[in-house]
Amino acid sequence: MNYEAHFADALARLRDERRYRVFADLERLAGRFPRAIWHSPQGPRDVIVWCSNDYLGMGQHPKVIGAMVETATRMGTGAGGTRNIAGTNHPLVDLERELADLHRKEAALVFTSGYVSNETGISTIARLMPNCLILSDASNHNSMIEGVRQSKCEKQIFRHNDVAHLEELLRTADPTRPKLIVFETLYSMDGDVAPINRICDLAERYGAMTYADEVHAVGMYGSRGGGQAEHQGAMARIDVIEGTLAKAFGCLGGYIAASATLCDAVRSYAPGFIFTTALPPPICAAATAAIRHLKSSSFERERHQERSARVKAVLNAAGLPVMPNDTHIVPLFVGDPEKCKRATDLLLTEHGIYIQPINYPTVAKGTERLRITPTPYHEDALIYALAEALLEVWERLKLPLKSRVLAAE
Ligand SMILES: *Cc1c(COP(=O)(O)O)cnc(C)c1O
Repeated sequence: MNYEAHFADALARLRDERRYRVFADLERLAGRFPRAIWHSPQGPRDVIVWCSNDYLGMGQHPKVIGAMVETATRMGTGAGGTRNIAGTNHPLVDLERELADLHRKEAALVFTSGYVSNETGISTIARLMPNCLILSDASNHNSMIEGVRQSKCEKQIFRHNDVAHLEELLRTADPTRPKLIVFETLYSMDGDVAPINRICDLAERYGAMTYADEVHAVGMYGSRGGGQAEHQGAMARIDVIEGTLAKAFGCLGGYIAASATLCDAVRSYAPGFIFTTALPPPICAAATAAIRHLKSSSFERERHQERSARVKAVLNAAGLPVMPNDTHIVPLFVGDPEKCKRATDLLLTEHGIYIQPINYPTVAKGTERLRITPTPYHEDALIYALAEALLEVWERLKLPLKSRVLAAE
């Protein structure tokens, strides 16, 4: 058996399908975000990052860096083991209290990533209920799909954000059967939001539990950064809120916030929680600092929304095909995987602009796009430079501008 050849074949298949991924070698510059150094094959170059999920620049906030450095100096780097072995480090206790308070829940439980919290959280919650039926939004993130799959429970997929379809599925299900509705509150590729209250209405009517992934909303929406549920006035109606510490909070880790009993059950049964080393104290302290800051400071949230609106306005005025939504995400339609990749290569090499191409399987074939994420620190000059660079690339690749798209319809 030639094992190496099998791995090489697997890679060749990806290359054939134009799905082979290449990561840019980037060096972020704290204090100069969104500026970074790209270690290109020709050597280091200055670039502007336009696709970071460090949405609010909290990863470079002096309070957050300060908390991390101070805690590392005082407590060292690692957690020293699983919580069972090493105990729960004190900054982690503080962090879970902070998260419970953020979402106004009795408790919170922290995992090593948002991915793990969904994977092990959903599967454990569903498995603990007898014959649980999972109702899952068609656009859910891979980590949620894996959680559903690993639960080995029956699942039904409802059409994306389609409450009528969800109700149809709930109506035909056995009323006595436990049910878990899993959905995201803000979908990060289209930037659309879930009708949270309408989903909760159905959950109440049909006796289902709700599990909402707030990964792309925490820190950014709601008066204290509690997410879309806080923004839509539905926080108390959701049974389990899941979030990440790695996007708007600028650190690493994931969590669920829920009743004390549910968190205790997941703590006690979830393999992805039990059998892995806890988050290091410096990361916990940094995340707590970011959450606390964003609870009381709305500067970042307001400026983030204002900058996103500004980018949309400038790109729209230039005739670029911005896919409309009501959130901070700025998707730019390309509709062709080759051109999508070519566009991002040209932006990087010719214009010093870093944007990741979004191709299948992250989005459906034919809907390939650039996904632009403005932050509070993308000033006007950067926005104009982005629009100019995009127009140049659009022309070079013969991609349609909006007036022509409309004319063709
Ligand atoms: C990024 C992401 C996750 C995973 O969070 P990490 O903390 O990066 O592991 C979960 N859900 C959604 C919708 C995501 O986009």
